[in-house]
Amino acid sequence: MNIILLGAPGAGKGTQAKILVEGRGMIQLSTGDMLRAARTSGTEMGKRVAAIMDAGQLVTDQIVIGLIAEQIDAHPEGGFIFDGFPRTLAQADALEDLLAAKGQRLDAVIELSVDDEALVQRIVKRAAEAQAAGLPVRSDDNPEVFAGRLREYYKKTAPLTGYYHAKRRLTVIDGMLPVDAVTAAVAAVLNG
Ligand code: AMP
Repeated sequence: MNIILLGAPGAGKGTQAKILVEGRGMIQLSTGDMLRAARTSGTEMGKRVAAIMDAGQLVTDQIVIGLIAEQIDAHPEGGFIFDGFPRTLAQADALEDLLAAKGQRLDAVIELSVDDEALVQRIVKRAAEAQAAGLPVRSDDNPEVFAGRLREYYKKTAPLTGYYHAKRRLTVIDGMLPVDAVTAAVAAVLNG
């Protein structure tokens, strides 16, 4: 089974993806995590995308499609949770082609819907908790950069809701619910 978790930054995609990895042995493919790893390890690509990420903008489709293609190739058995990918219509089209080339399909697209104000509060909390724990604070969780990330989301990623609705794959879940309730709603979609 292959699924996409859609939703604004801070909607809870990563939290739900980790629960699915632990509970069902699925493979989380987070392009944000892959890009951060590329930056930390100092690859050429990591250096190229650093400024774009710090500005809260999207890196090029070509780069993230390349990252996802490598992972799809590496796991022919599938079982993917796409987290933070696709973020543009071009990425969504590319994903369909990549999966089809491996005889795979998308089984569900789940959108976690959360109010903007709650998103901002969650990000402020996430940054404060990381700081208190002595962990690195994501530079793009800075409130000004976060506002830019939200704008990018509404401009470039929100149209994917219509795209997947038209394909009859979309389920919207209220991401304002407590985590356990969101997890139960996600499980209900996956269990059909
Ligand atoms: P995330 O951790 O998913 O919020 O991603 C952090 C940052 O990585 C984003 O703000 C973008 O700069 C970049 N990024 C992650 N995934 C994508 C994607 N699918 N397309 C373009 N940029 C991405």
